[in-house]
Amino acid sequence: MNEHKSRDYYPLWHPDTQMKTAPVPQKVISANGVELELEHGKKLIDMVSSWWVNLHGHSHPVIAKAIYEQAMNLEQVIFADFTHDPAEKLANGLLDVLPDHFSRVFYSDDGSTAVEVALKMAIQYWRNQGEDRSAFLCFENAYHGDTFGSMSVGARSVFTDPFVKFLFDIEYVPFPGTFLGDDSIVEREAQSLQVIEGQLKNNPSKFAGIILEPLIQGAGGMNMCRPEYLQKLEELAHKYDLVVIYDEVMTGFGRTGDWFACEKAKTEPDIICLSKGITGGFLPLSATVCNERIYNAFYDNDPYKAFYHGHSYMANPLGCAAGIASLDLMHNNEPKFRNMESLHTKYLAEFDDHPKVKDIRVCGTVAALTVKSTEETGYMNHIGKKIKYKFYEAGYLVRPLGNVIYFLPPYIITEDQLAGAYHTMKEILDNI
Ligand SMILES: *Cc1c(COP(=O)(O)O)cnc(C)c1O
Repeated sequence: MNEHKSRDYYPLWHPDTQMKTAPVPQKVISANGVELELEHGKKLIDMVSSWWVNLHGHSHPVIAKAIYEQAMNLEQVIFADFTHDPAEKLANGLLDVLPDHFSRVFYSDDGSTAVEVALKMAIQYWRNQGEDRSAFLCFENAYHGDTFGSMSVGARSVFTDPFVKFLFDIEYVPFPGTFLGDDSIVEREAQSLQVIEGQLKNNPSKFAGIILEPLIQGAGGMNMCRPEYLQKLEELAHKYDLVVIYDEVMTGFGRTGDWFACEKAKTEPDIICLSKGITGGFLPLSATVCNERIYNAFYDNDPYKAFYHGHSYMANPLGCAAGIASLDLMHNNEPKFRNMESLHTKYLAEFDDHPKVKDIRVCGTVAALTVKSTEETGYMNHIGKKIKYKFYEAGYLVRPLGNVIYFLPPYIITEDQLAGAYHTMKEILDNI
C-alpha cells in the first residue's frame, strides 16, 4: 500500500497554513450554542463565530430543521430556466430587510464569488452602455476574497505575493481608520477624500467603480471608519458616476449593530455583496444584490447584454432554506445584536490605559484592539500566535489578526460569557 493510502496518512490541506510547521489541527466533535467540543473533551467558547459566519449559535435546531425539511422535498435543481420557492422567498426576505433602493438578487456560493459577480456587473454595466470604464478604486488594507478578481481589489500581501502579476490594475486610496479617543479623524477623512477626488479628476472615465468594506475592514485588521466618511464618499462617487460596491460579506446581518452597514451609515450603494452570515453559518451561499440602475443596463433585447455568469449550485435550495430560517432568527435576535456595542464598550473601558494596548475600537458586535509590539502591526506579527494559544488554554477560540485582538461572537452569547472572555483578555495582556 502506498503511504498515502494508509490509514494514518493525513490527507487534508488546511487554509492559510504552513502544513509543515503548524500544530496538528484540533478535531471538533460537536458544537452547540457558543461552544465547540473538541475530541478530548475540551470545550471552547467561539469568540469569532467560526470565521464570522455563525450568528445564532452552532447547530441551531430551527435552521437544522429547515434544512432537513427542504432536503426531503427539493435538495438542488438547475437555476437556469427554473426557479423555486426557497430562492424567491429568501430574495424577498433579503429585499425586505435591505434598504429600499435594492431590487435584484444574484446568488452565488461564497464571499469571494459574490465579489467577483459585483466586479463583473460593474464592468459590464459600463460596457453595455458603450463605455470602457474598467478600473477600480480600492482601499489600502482591504480584503475581498481569494479568487483572482477579489484578490485584485484587495491589498497586496503575503496572500497575494505569488500571484501578483496576474492581478488587474487598481488604484489604492487611504482608509481613514479610527478608534476611541481619536482626535485627528476629521483631517484623515478629508485627506482620503482628497486623494480619491484627485484620482477621479485626473481620470474621469477610467474607473468603473469603487469597492469597500463599509464601517469595518475585517481581515485587514478590524479597521473601523465613521458613517460620516461613507456619506461623503458617496457624494463624491455620485459626482463622478462611479458604481459603488459595498462588500458586506462580514458586516452584513447585524454585525455592525444594524442589519447592514449601509443602513447604519445611511448610504445607498449600487451593489452589496452578502455571504458569511447569510445562512446563519450552516451552508455556503452568497448573494450580490443591486439596484435598478445596474439591472437596467443588462435588461435588453440584445443577448450580448446579458450577464453570462453562473454557478452549478446557484440558489441551492438547502442554502436558501437555511437563509430564510436565519432571517427569522435575526428578527428574534435583533435586540441582542443592537445591544452588544454597549456591552463591548463597557468591558473595553478597562483597557483604556493598559500599557500594552492601543487603538481600541468597537462597531456593533465587533470589538478590537491593537497590542503594542516591537514588530510591525500586521498579519505576520508573531504576538498573535502566542495570544491565540493562551486564549485556547483558557477555553476560548480567538484568532488575532497579527497583533490585533478582536471579538466577533455569535449574537446569543450571554453577558457573563462575554465578561469572562474580557477577563481572560485582561489576564493575558497583563502577563504578556
Ligand atoms: C471573508 C470575506 C470575503 C471572502 O469570503 P469567502 O466566503 O471566504 O470567499 C470577502 N469579503 C470580505 C469582507 C470578507 O470578510
